[in-house]
Formats: sequence, structure tokens, C-alpha cells
Amino acid sequence: MINIEETVNRLRETNDLDDEALLYLIQNDECNSILFKHADSVRREIYGDKVYIRGLIELTNYCKNNCLYCGIRRDNKSVGRYRLSKEQVLLCCEQGYELGFRTFVMQGGEDPYFSDDVLCDIISDIKNKYPDCAVTLSLGERSRESYKLLFKAGADRYLLRHETADKAHYEKLHPNDMSFDNRIKCLYDLKETGFQVGAGFMVGSPFQTYENIIADLRFLQKLKPHMVGIGPFISHCQTPFAGYKNGDTFVTLRLLSIIRLMLPNVLLPSTTALSTIHPDGRILGLKAGANVVMPNLSPKNFRSLYSLYDGKAAFGAESAQELEKLKEIVSKAGYSVCVDRGDVKK
Ligand code: SAH
Repeated sequence: MINIEETVNRLRETNDLDDEALLYLIQNDECNSILFKHADSVRREIYGDKVYIRGLIELTNYCKNNCLYCGIRRDNKSVGRYRLSKEQVLLCCEQGYELGFRTFVMQGGEDPYFSDDVLCDIISDIKNKYPDCAVTLSLGERSRESYKLLFKAGADRYLLRHETADKAHYEKLHPNDMSFDNRIKCLYDLKETGFQVGAGFMVGSPFQTYENIIADLRFLQKLKPHMVGIGPFISHCQTPFAGYKNGDTFVTLRLLSIIRLMLPNVLLPSTTALSTIHPDGRILGLKAGANVVMPNLSPKNFRSLYSLYDGKAAFGAESAQELEKLKEIVSKAGYSVCVDRGDVKK
């Protein structure tokens, strides 16, 4: 038995623990309240009660990749494919700006239609119209040259989850034509380019062991990203992982707390996947140390097509249009939605 309070305090003071202590905190429900309490207190020291909001624009569900877990993988022939035009993206931004969003996140499959030229044109138009806004991209692996061009065009941040820091595990989640080494290289290229960078992983993905999760945490300590995105794996019925067990809500929550205590300044979203597997997921995530939410700002008629996993929440308080609802539940939980760019605090 370990002394939980003492262990969590040590994590808070040193931003580190040995593997054995970390494993204990990740695995045991009796750590919940102490972990959440300290993570929340650290986030309040740095970010106060502010919750940053990002408008999520799902740019395209075309994808050339075939990730085994993902509902918009190339081989899923049952999903209708769409891509947004520049005009459609700008309309999302206009609505989002009006609602109070000052960060727009363009996420999508790896769709070759979105060449550097096409993307740079969209990015520079957004930045010209909304110079007070940050643009975040989450468009997968690209060349270092491409990242440089996107950054030059005005993109500020880039989210690229590493998915798993264990090469053998990576290869169980991805087909042979994808490479663990390239994914990691992309993260370092993005950092070097000057982006605020987000890494992250799924909790409870098929074949994941607790040791894999420790490797994920060690990788985050090494990379020192500005943002970390984690959420439970949720199976999608038209993928090879159909019927696989979903990730666990409370393991995810404990990991959010551990990440807040390891990387105190990190921007940490309470993710859509978390609110998809648990009705109070969004708020539980905030109470466990998360400080960002990313409501869906995509055109409503396309939302159901961006189906990364079954049951993906996109309406109600997940919808940018219902920001008032979100503000209400956030303030009930003791936080307040903040309308500014919400950059990382140094
Ligand atoms: N193509 C981009 C964006 C991917 S979608 C990229 O490669 O980065 C964003 C994230 O959704 C992925 O990084 C993955 O971690 C998560 N995701 C995909 N399928 C999922 C599933 N079945 N359950 C939970 N999260 C999933």
C-alpha cells in the first residue's frame, strides 16, 4: 500500500514519480478524489477558474489512411464523404466569432485535396478577417516544409496525437503503410517550426497495457507539448475494432489529473469522447484538471458524417450554437467560460 496523499503531493511538487507509483495512481479508484483535488488546485493556481473554448470545424472526412480504430478510415465505404469549401469554413468562423470563439480548430482526415496552397489560402483568409483569433490545425502527418508553409500562412497551433508511444502497440493500431517513427518526427518538426503543439493518446485502445500508458506519460514529459488531448477509445461498428471494449471513464479522468500535475501549464481539453461515454464527462474532466472544451462548430448537416466513433456527441452542450447551455453547466461546476484566445501560460 502506498500513501496516496503523500504520493500525489510528491507528483505535484516534483512533476514526476517512479513507474510503480504512477501505475498505482492510474489503476486505483481510491485515488480519484485526491488526484482530482490536487489537479484542480494546480489548474486554479495557473489558469484560475477559466475554461477556454475552441470552435471545432471538421473540415473533411476524406482520409487516405486506414487507422484500425477510426470510423473515417479509408476502407469504411458506408460513410458518406464530404469536404468543406473555403466559403463554408469562413461561414463557420463568422458564426463562431459572433458566439465568442477566438480559436478555430480545423480538424480532418488526411485528405490530399487540402494541399498546402488550398490550406494556406483558407488560413490566411481567416487570419485576415479575424486577426485576434488563433487558428489550430489537426490534419495529420505532413512534411516539415508543409508545416512551415501553414505556420507562415498564420496557423498558430497544431494537434497531432501520438496515439501511443510504444512502437509495437502503434503497429497494432495502424496498417503497415503508417509509421510510428514518422508520427513522432512530425511532432518534433511541428515544435521546431514554432507551433504550439498538442500530442496525446486514446485511453483503453485495443491491446493497450498500463505499461504503454506509462510510456505515453514519459513521452509527454520528454516532448513537453503545450497541449495534450486524451480521451477514451470508443469502438466504431464499421472498423476492424468493432465490438472492442471502450476505454474507462475514471482511468481517463485520473490520467487527466496526472497530466495536469506533470505538466502544470498544459492546455488540457475535456474531450468529446469523454462526454460521449459518460453523461457528465465534460464536467468531470474539468474537475479532474482539464481547462479547455472544444464545442462543435461544423455545419450541422455534416456533423453525423464526421463519425470517428459510435455515438459521437455533436449536439446539445457539445454544439457551439448552444454555448449558453455550456456556460451554465460550467459555471454551476465552479468555473467560467473565457472568451479570449486562451494561449498557454508560460
Ligand atoms: N487525421 C488527424 C485527425 C484525427 S481525428 C490526425 O491524424 O491527427 C482526432 C483524434 O480522434 C485521433 O487522433 C484519435 O486519437 C481520435 N480517435 C479516432 N478514432 C477514435 C475512436 N474510435 N475512439 C476514440 N478516439 C478516436
